[in-house]
Amino acid sequence: MNSSVDVEAAARNFLARTEEHLVSYLEACVHCGTCAEACHFYAASGNPKHTPAYKLVPIAKAYRRQKFPLAWLGLAPRIGPSDLQEWEELLFDTCTMCGRCTSVCPMGIDIASIVAGARQAFVAAGLGPKDLLAAADSSRDHGSPLGLTAQKLRERMEWLADEHDVPIALDKPRAEILLTISSIEVMKYPESVVAMAKLLNHAGADWTLSSKGYEATNFGYLAGKADVARLMVERIVAAAEAVGAKTVIVPECGHAFGVLRWSAANMLGRALPFAVLHISEYLAQLKRAGRLKLRPLTDSITYHDPCQISRRGGATEDARYLLEGFAEDFREMAPTGVYNWCCGGGGGVQAIGRAADLRHKVFKIKMDQVEQTGAGTMVSSCSNCRLTMDESKEHWKWGGGLASLVELLADHLESGGART
Ligand code: SF4
Ligand code: SF4
Repeated sequence: MNSSVDVEAAARNFLARTEEHLVSYLEACVHCGTCAEACHFYAASGNPKHTPAYKLVPIAKAYRRQKFPLAWLGLAPRIGPSDLQEWEELLFDTCTMCGRCTSVCPMGIDIASIVAGARQAFVAAGLGPKDLLAAADSSRDHGSPLGLTAQKLRERMEWLADEHDVPIALDKPRAEILLTISSIEVMKYPESVVAMAKLLNHAGADWTLSSKGYEATNFGYLAGKADVARLMVERIVAAAEAVGAKTVIVPECGHAFGVLRWSAANMLGRALPFAVLHISEYLAQLKRAGRLKLRPLTDSITYHDPCQISRRGGATEDARYLLEGFAEDFREMAPTGVYNWCCGGGGGVQAIGRAADLRHKVFKIKMDQVEQTGAGTMVSSCSNCRLTMDESKEHWKWGGGLASLVELLADHLESGGART
């Protein structure tokens, strides 16, 4: 934490911005401890501070300081530098907002939304991890967290189209579909963008990317910067409206899907004039319509459910439908679907450098899951999961394979193009 921060002012600011509705969760928690074993951070570390219910502590302390009768008597505990230090780690480094704890909580307490709200209060107080905040600022100033400006997007798409001999539609004046991308893909896994283009072209879809609104990964939301979160959403909505898109496709990025599908309309205060689909949902639609023809995959694979697409996103079955009849040796890991374990890098944790050791420990859970299936490759449909797992794979020198769902599908397209 920045030593120049005025702790008293920061604490006051945090208190002032702690929203009342979050406090209702304090009253609801019956302290049963059921959530502890559901959290990958606690499962990996055994540290009681990593239990989900402990994430209520900052809100609880802020509440008691302001509202509890002790506060009126001047007896409430003070909030000092050590509190803020601990809370920063609690709210940012050790919660991926995966929602697994909520799925077992008898009171349905939504720890992920508490953490999201508390992050906003924390950042408004001038605090928060520098690297995560820098990613949000870069999104505001340059269009993406990794510095992918509109100009760089144009250059990269032109290069990818040439290199892979695939048309990549950019800035068409009108299109049925606006495809968005994650700069994680463009900068680290560009084949993923090529794969999406191949799949959409194969189906004969009328689609485009837009240099006015392309970045789907919303670091404003992850970093607790509500103004940046809204700006990122506004850019995509404006781009979609400009081309008259009926559908906006979110690429392989879990949190991008969560924000655009489930939060964007609330952020803007109006309904979105288009459908928001994760790429796996859209591809499943194509397959149902007979517009996706694939050659069979014989290698053994298993599937990692990205939390924001499956557990919190509701698109658990579409990935499996895509694999059905295509992946001849598909092996479910256990637990799977909405109870699958998190990769450990969601919720912006991937971008927090000091959280790397804990992330690597969490990945051992995933390694065990995959090894128990005996599958040679783990497939995911989230580039943030992929990046997290790639880094941890390297850390542990793990030999398991990792693959992207869209790349796997694009690599097995039957020649001959769309069947409409
Ligand atoms: S949302 Fe996920 S990471 Fe956060 S406390 Fe719950 S189980 Fe742990
Ligand atoms: S499972 Fe729910 S009620 Fe029980 S301790 Fe955790 S948050 Fe509280």
